[in-house]
Amino acid sequence: MPECIFCEIAQKRAQADIVYEDDDCVAFRDINPQAPTHVLVVPKRHIESLSTLTAEDKELAGSLMLAAAKVAEQLGIVQPGYRVVINTNPAAGQTVFHIHLHVLGGRTFGWPPG
Ligand code: 5GP
Ligand code: ZN
Repeated sequence: MPECIFCEIAQKRAQADIVYEDDDCVAFRDINPQAPTHVLVVPKRHIESLSTLTAEDKELAGSLMLAAAKVAEQLGIVQPGYRVVINTNPAAGQTVFHIHLHVLGGRTFGWPPG
């Protein structure tokens, strides 16, 4: 399998500032933060994108969502609010093809997103 940086981080073979981990997921600070708090939540198992999730991944998808909420709680961004983003495929800005939830907080966000 070609090298995947998020698999490397999840397996602790590449360095990252990990802020949360459970059986299914790991969360670490984005190397190029777009907000005062910017964390990526990834499954330990390699899945390319939201568009390649299957019904068998239902429980894992739930774990990712819950992990994002826990990270937000842990990092104190629940109030006044935070944003969770899954860029899916190139036109949406996906650059790393290992599914990840961006958890962003610590500033006000515009809508619609750019
Ligand atoms: P995407 O553009 O695919 O939605 O998000 C990929 C994110 O991964 C980007 O925000 C980028 O800054 C981050 N990223 C890419 N490589 C690394 C890395 O090696 N370590 C960390 N911590 N973040 C990375
Ligand atoms: Zn991977």
